[in-house]
Amino acid sequence: MPLYIVPTPIGNLEDLTYRAARVLREASLIACEDTRRTRQLLQHYGISTPLISYHEHNERARTRELVERMRAGAAVALVSDAGTPLISDPGDALARAAIAEGLPVIALPGACAAVTALSASGLSAAGFRFVGFLPVKSSARRAALAALADEPVTLAFYEAPHRLRAFLRDACAILGDRPAVVARELTKLHETYERGALSALAAHFEAETPRGEIVALIAGKAPETAPPPDEPALMAEIARRIADDDLSATEAIRQTAQRYGLSRRQVYQRWLRRSDAPVVKGGQ
Ligand code: SAM
Repeated sequence: MPLYIVPTPIGNLEDLTYRAARVLREASLIACEDTRRTRQLLQHYGISTPLISYHEHNERARTRELVERMRAGAAVALVSDAGTPLISDPGDALARAAIAEGLPVIALPGACAAVTALSASGLSAAGFRFVGFLPVKSSARRAALAALADEPVTLAFYEAPHRLRAFLRDACAILGDRPAVVARELTKLHETYERGALSALAAHFEAETPRGEIVALIAGKAPETAPPPDEPALMAEIARRIADDDLSATEAIRQTAQRYGLSRRQVYQRWLRRSDAPVVKGGQ
């Protein structure tokens, strides 16, 4: 029988899907991190499926036991304390073992703090890198940030409130003063998003003690503009765009200026003053 991977709410109890409730109700047993916490959720939904603990300290032994039970016909639902199992939560070993045994592994879509924060962050969601928790020690945290410095996509971190200030300071020092978002208490009463440059967010949280559960998102490395070539080469490029790409001078100047991060107006003036510009005769 299958292993179901079932996301649970990250704050708001309404965020359990109908399907998740049905799977939890119909499963033979639910493997969960903290039986007391999951029991509260199940009580809210009137679900009485038996629970078995599955956490980082008994993961190996429980994985063997749960695989045996699935092979014997049990349908097991895996949940964590909140959000999607395996996302900075236990479950990795169980999913791998089930796959290795040829058992079906069925993941349900549902709440995940990183994805929730990303979708309302205003940062690019075209691509993102989920990092989760960084090391606690500053030297190791800085090394981990340095390894992410060239990522062009949005970076998603989980961070404890008492470490947020140090995290923001280190991130600003290592990654530069990039746009970032601190999302707190998502789906809960005191949900907030603070948006700004890393330095501004660091200053904000120096003044205000960070509280609650936190997702920090940082913009990826900005694409580098090519270094501008010397004057003759710049003019030659504009001339080539006009001749080969059949562009107007205005459009060729716009594209060239954009490529090198230059001001369009300045490039236009340089184009007018170029050495081989046709001489405009003044007349009376
Ligand atoms: N599996 C979970 C998920 O899918 O998001 C993450 C579990 S991880 C152990 C817990 C961390 O996720 C928290 O310390 C916090 O960084 C983040 N988190 C969880 N719920 C959150 C919420 N409601 N608002 C902001 N961050 C949250």
